[in-house]
Amino acid sequence: MQVEGTQGILQASGFVLDSSSGFGDSYKLDLGNGWLVSAYCSFEGNPFAGKVERNAYKDVDVQLHDMIGTSHLCNTEDALEENLQEIINTLRYNSDDDKILQCPKCNIRYVCSNTPTIGQKWDSYLSCSGMQIVARGQDNGVICDGVSEKLAAVVTY
Ligand SMILES: [Zn+2]
Repeated sequence: MQVEGTQGILQASGFVLDSSSGFGDSYKLDLGNGWLVSAYCSFEGNPFAGKVERNAYKDVDVQLHDMIGTSHLCNTEDALEENLQEIINTLRYNSDDDKILQCPKCNIRYVCSNTPTIGQKWDSYLSCSGMQIVARGQDNGVICDGVSEKLAAVVTY
């Protein structure tokens, strides 16, 4: 995915560049309902070895900020262009009434996607964002381990 073409597709849908790092560029879109969509574009190459191609993206991960709910992963510019509006519509639908994004166990926090890295054999899943402490009731001091199956963790285009 060429950076220029990918940027053009994102900007046509209202995304603006939010931040950049040695790993990639992050674009944001305000849904106007209190939620942001982030489009995270990973640079081609190996950032851990300090070798990235800054003129090419490996993929674009479109998700509610901050890594909440389904991760919509586009691997080509065509796939991004064809599916971006539908992805935004889905994310808006899920966040307008955000119950579907809430952890079914604590009903407080949202669920985030967990995806295996290369070599890991487990499937992607959505789990409670609760690497935080539950602050009240009998679960005081317990980290929530809720998992949601209401939405797909990852959809690839
Ligand atoms: Zn939870």
